[in-house]
Amino acid sequence: MLRRTIFLIAMLVWPVMATAQTNEISADPDRMEQRIKALSAYGADASGATSRVAFSEADLAGRKYIMGLMREAGLNVRVDTAGNIIGRREGSDESLSPIMFGSHIDSVPGGGNYDGDVGVIGAIEVAQLLHERGIDTRHPLEIVSFTDEEGGLTGSRAMIGKLTDSALEVMTHSGLTVREGIFAVGGDPNRLELAVRKPGSIAAFVELHIEQGGILDEENINIGIVEGIVGIRWWDVTIDGFANHAGTTPMNKRWDAMVTAAELTLAINRIATELPGRQVATVGKIRALPGAPNVIPGEVVLSLEVRDLDAQKMQQVFELIKAEADRIGDARFTPIRFAEIDVASPPAPTDLQMRRIISTAADDLGLSSRLMPSGAGHDAQDMTHIAPTGMIFVPSVKGISHSPKEFTTALDMANGASVLLKTVLAIDGGALE
Ligand SMILES: [Zn+2]
Repeated sequence: MLRRTIFLIAMLVWPVMATAQTNEISADPDRMEQRIKALSAYGADASGATSRVAFSEADLAGRKYIMGLMREAGLNVRVDTAGNIIGRREGSDESLSPIMFGSHIDSVPGGGNYDGDVGVIGAIEVAQLLHERGIDTRHPLEIVSFTDEEGGLTGSRAMIGKLTDSALEVMTHSGLTVREGIFAVGGDPNRLELAVRKPGSIAAFVELHIEQGGILDEENINIGIVEGIVGIRWWDVTIDGFANHAGTTPMNKRWDAMVTAAELTLAINRIATELPGRQVATVGKIRALPGAPNVIPGEVVLSLEVRDLDAQKMQQVFELIKAEADRIGDARFTPIRFAEIDVASPPAPTDLQMRRIISTAADDLGLSSRLMPSGAGHDAQDMTHIAPTGMIFVPSVKGISHSPKEFTTALDMANGASVLLKTVLAIDGGALE
């Protein structure tokens, strides 16, 4: 009877104890910073920059270091055929698909030590904390370090089955093509289908990353909850005028494509500014033909870029610009044509439930947070196609990134990893179900 009573009390108290115990776990800022420093040695140059471009000797050495840390965290490490490093920890329920989290460790040439790295070191920190405390999860966990993020999201694109043959032939900064590079890191570009994960086969994907912008730092906020990665659309805009002598043609007898281009550029800026929302529109390139000081431009070609999180909003911005262009073109007798360029970068919103889970995790840890879009591309945008995806941003000091001056404090990194841990445990506990 006594044993039975003790058992019953234990059963009642156990979930409380388990909760209290997991609540106390937080990431170790010193360990994370020390690991970021150790990783930064691979590809560091005399100027203080890190050039750990994908498939370089430095990348290979960095990957080896990361695989060592994964093993130390009790993970089973493998490299998939796309070269992605995956460290797996089994769950207690074999019927459940894995929760995946991670980022990348390759850098741009002359880059810094936080872009991508914080997400991988943070993911390993989560695995190590669970390992050290002996905490089991129901779901298997997969910690990922994606191949060649900076070269075009190579590893995640392969994982969703969208890495094209032509992408494999692209020459990288390492001096190897993507195909050769994947071989060099232990993958097999001829069997990429083995790296593909089907939609629904991953319970959730979470990426911890530095913001690479200055909003969190400026507003003194701990955590950014990413609403999604903005979509990008590009157009070539051609204005037809009439080339003529700049000295002999009176001002009222001109069809000057450049003047129309100037008016159109101002209109594009005005439309994107005045429309409520966070859309951006940019004219970043212009070419006048024939292009001489003494000739009225007969043709001008300019670029138009529109970015937003919402595809319908992007279309709306374009239609407003197009209508205004028709009006300006008619008024100046210089027709304006739009030809869209396929950059294949639709908006990638994150999962609504995942945003809520991340927000709750930050609140529970006493950290301030805000929703925000990501203006930069990330592996998470690919993963939105196959799994409920969430993204956690931590502050970048002064918003500097892709530079040796990139910096995130140890405490901010640890805050991000603690939110990641809580998020993973909440998903494991059924928060998405
Ligand atoms: Zn990155």
